[in-house]
Amino acid sequence: KPFSYEELSCRIAQNLEMIEQIETIREVANRDFLTGLHNRRFFFEHGQEIYLRAVREQIPLAIAMVDIDNFKKLNDSLGHAVGDAALVHLSQVARETIRPQDTLARYGGEEFVLVMPNIGIEKARERAEDLHTTINALNISYGRFNLTTTISMGIAWYPAHGTTKEALMRAADMAMYVAKNTGRNRVITYDEREAGSL
Ligand code: GH3
Ligand code: MG
Ligand code: MG
Repeated sequence: KPFSYEELSCRIAQNLEMIEQIETIREVANRDFLTGLHNRRFFFEHGQEIYLRAVREQIPLAIAMVDIDNFKKLNDSLGHAVGDAALVHLSQVARETIRPQDTLARYGGEEFVLVMPNIGIEKARERAEDLHTTINALNISYGRFNLTTTISMGIAWYPAHGTTKEALMRAADMAMYVAKNTGRNRVITYDEREAGSL
């Protein structure tokens, strides 16, 4: 026997509610609890999609690794709570600084990954420098503490620096390694790594 109008609309309402709940669960599962940024899991799924689209449509793409400098020292001297507050504040500002089409994820403890689709290498560097400058100028206050932090960044670019997502990430990591080894607090692109590592 067919559903009555009431039964049908009740079922539809239930289904819509369920869809909303699923959306909420998905949103929570994709976010880092502390910073509200996308998490590593989301990056691996969504990053792969972005990468495959770039390859399919032959549009460039930049991946930047971001790592806070001497963060252990900050934790050790001011305490974990201050470290957490710094992570939250920095993440929020970084999120406001990137382009709407970019994805910023918390990759690990004090490491982040920024995916910039459809961007040239010069522009990617410019955007990274912007982020670097903004974070450096940031005044983080927590209770009686006032502090500043610096970040190091490594950038790799598709297609020149790698033709798989993994190769791109390795290249970005290598650039980051050079940034750390040449004094930190700087942005290095993969093609600059030789000059940087002198
Ligand atoms: P480098 O400039 O070489 O990156 O030095 P570093 O001290 O930042 O790097 P290292 O990897 O040695 O230390 C990272 C520190 O980040 C260690 C850990 O205590 C801290 N950390 C990681 N996740 C969190 C977190 O969620 N909250 C706080 N407060 N600290 C965290
Ligand atoms: Mg660090
Ligand atoms: Mg680190």
